[in-house]
Amino acid sequence: TDVQELLLSRIRDVADYPEPGVMFKDITPLLADPVAFTALTGALADIAERTGATKVVGLEARGFILGSPVAVRAGLGFIPVRKAGKLPGATLRQAYDLEYGSAEIEVHAEDLTGGDRVLVVDDVLATGGTAEASVQLIRRAGAEVAGLAVLMELGFLGGRGRLEPTLGEAPLEAL
Ligand code: 5GP
Repeated sequence: TDVQELLLSRIRDVADYPEPGVMFKDITPLLADPVAFTALTGALADIAERTGATKVVGLEARGFILGSPVAVRAGLGFIPVRKAGKLPGATLRQAYDLEYGSAEIEVHAEDLTGGDRVLVVDDVLATGGTAEASVQLIRRAGAEVAGLAVLMELGFLGGRGRLEPTLGEAPLEAL
């Protein structure tokens, strides 16, 4: 579609970042373009409405930039999922494997409860490890996952195949 072409045209490929051999997808040109940024947050807000989400979770750090305007546009609250050690209150913590080593993410336990249906928002789905851990975290908090919405999916890394068994009925939407 025209929106997809606009979004794609504002994503910059950066070779050998953050390490040799990696082609990084840089979304800062998209954020700097008000037409593209508005189109993106509008499309993500449509997904929030379509999936019946009652809250938006954004994954640190670019998921904060995208998820906050989506929450406002959809009339929903925003919940940050952060790297471990950044949230001041009582948290739930989830570990996940990286290529080398592991990482941990956290959410404030009181921000999610039984009646919530959560849309998870991030910029890029790569291996799916971060998204999978966030789904586990949301469910451990007692909430339901309404779906996962990303700007871009790097298909060759197999994130969708990894996530689909975890997501079950909840859709994975990549713009
Ligand atoms: P995964 O856990 O799926 O392997 O990695 C996804 C996480 O890493 C996301 O939070 C995403 O922001 C970040 N990420 C991985 N590769 C890229 C990339 O090429 N561009 C951007 N903007 N983020 C990336």
